[in-house]
Amino acid sequence: MFKELLKGFFTGFATTFKHLFRKPVTEQYPEYKRTLPARSRARIILTRDPDGNERCVACYLCSAVCPVSCISMQSAQREDGRRYPRWFRINFARCIYCGFCEEACPTLAIQLTPHFETCEREVLKLVAEKEDLLVNHGGKNKEYNFYRRAGVTMVGDKGTHVNEERPVDLKTNLP
Ligand code: SF4
Ligand code: SF4
Repeated sequence: MFKELLKGFFTGFATTFKHLFRKPVTEQYPEYKRTLPARSRARIILTRDPDGNERCVACYLCSAVCPVSCISMQSAQREDGRRYPRWFRINFARCIYCGFCEEACPTLAIQLTPHFETCEREVLKLVAEKEDLLVNHGGKNKEYNFYRRAGVTMVGDKGTHVNEERPVDLKTNLP
């Protein structure tokens, strides 16, 4: 018992002693800003596809999955049938940066970025409109173009669309 006590006592001191000679890792923020990983979850953006179109098709999935209900929008339709959000609003005062909206989005439109310096004194400034959210690039996945694969009306035969396999002829399975 006494031996164990001594062991615990000296192990603790040895650990403290070891750290006395380590180089301090204090970072002088905001003078020094560490580059955060690309997958860090902070300020949200709405991205565009490689054609320059808004990726968002106003499907409401992000809004439905958001645990604090801080996303709202209204859908609209272009003349060519493509949907888009007439307005799109995120209340960053409520957002908990969980990333669920990004996970749910089928078009990769909504993305969280590492930009975390979003403090405001006036709470209403934390309500971001589409103009504040929409950027002119594709964010983390620049090449992805959801609409070219799934958003357009089918033309031609089945199996001739981009990345689509030919349909299976069921009769070939018959004995
Ligand atoms: S990160 Fe989470 S809380 Fe914030 S808007 Fe997306 S789903 Fe809602
Ligand atoms: S951001 Fe994505 S999930 Fe949200 S409405 Fe637009 S397409 Fe749907």
